[in-house]
Amino acid sequence: MSMPTVFVSHGSPMLYLEPDLPARAFLSTLGSLVPKPKAILAVSAHWNTERPEVSLTARPETIHDFYGFPDALYKLHYDAPGAPALARRVAGMTGAQPAEYGLDHGAWVPAMLGWPDADIPIFQLSVQPYMSPAHHLELGRKLTALRDEGVLVMGSGSATHNLRRLVRGAHDTKPEPWAKAFDDWLAATVEKGDAAALANYRSEAPNAKDAHPTDEHFLPLHVAFGAAGEGATGRALHRSFTSGNLSMASYVFA
Ligand code: ZN
Repeated sequence: MSMPTVFVSHGSPMLYLEPDLPARAFLSTLGSLVPKPKAILAVSAHWNTERPEVSLTARPETIHDFYGFPDALYKLHYDAPGAPALARRVAGMTGAQPAEYGLDHGAWVPAMLGWPDADIPIFQLSVQPYMSPAHHLELGRKLTALRDEGVLVMGSGSATHNLRRLVRGAHDTKPEPWAKAFDDWLAATVEKGDAAALANYRSEAPNAKDAHPTDEHFLPLHVAFGAAGEGATGRALHRSFTSGNLSMASYVFA
C-alpha cells in the first residue's frame, strides 16, 4: 500500500502543554490515521534556506527554536533517530544540498504527539521562503516515489498564519470571517486537487494577504501536496481555530 502524505498545522509551541486544545487531541491520533511509516520526512516552516537542503544528521537534536516560553517546553526532547542514507537519496532525487540539522518545533511537536515512542527515523527538508508556491509543488513532486517506500512526507506549517492579528486567549471563540473564508477556500481547493489554484493562491484565495503575510508557513502544504503526485486530492483530517484566526487545519493527500 502506498503511503499518503500529510500537512499539519503545528500552532504555537504551547500546543504541547495545552491538553484541552482540539488540535492537540487530533495530533495525538496522527500516528493511528496513517500506516506506520518506515521514516518521516518533515518539511517544516521553520527551516528556511535559500536553496533546498536536507538533513543527514544521524542523531538529530531537539531544537527549541522559540523564546520566552515556559521552562517545561525547553525540557522536552524527542529522541528519534535520523535517516542519513535515506536523506542522501532525497538529496539525489531533489537536488537538495545535504546539511546537518536537528528537529525544529515544526517537526518535533507533531512527531512527539503522533509517534510518542520516537522509534521512527525522522529527518527534515527545508523550505525556500523567497521561492514560489509552484517551486514547492515541484519540489514535492520529486518526492513522490517515497510513497511506495513507506516514507511519510509530513508538511508542517499553518493553514493560516498572521501573528500580528492573533487574538490572545481566544481559543474557543468562533473564527474571524476573513480567516474562515480562506480556510474554507483551502479545504475546497485541496478536495478538488486543484494544484494550479494552490500555486496561485495569492491571487485566487480570499484574504490571502491576511491569511499569510509571508509564505513560509503555507509552503509545507505545497510540498506535501506535490509529493502525493499527479492527480492527488486532499481530505481534511482536522479543522479548528485558535486565537481567533489561526487555523489548525490538517490534511491528508493521496
Ligand atoms: Zn510555526
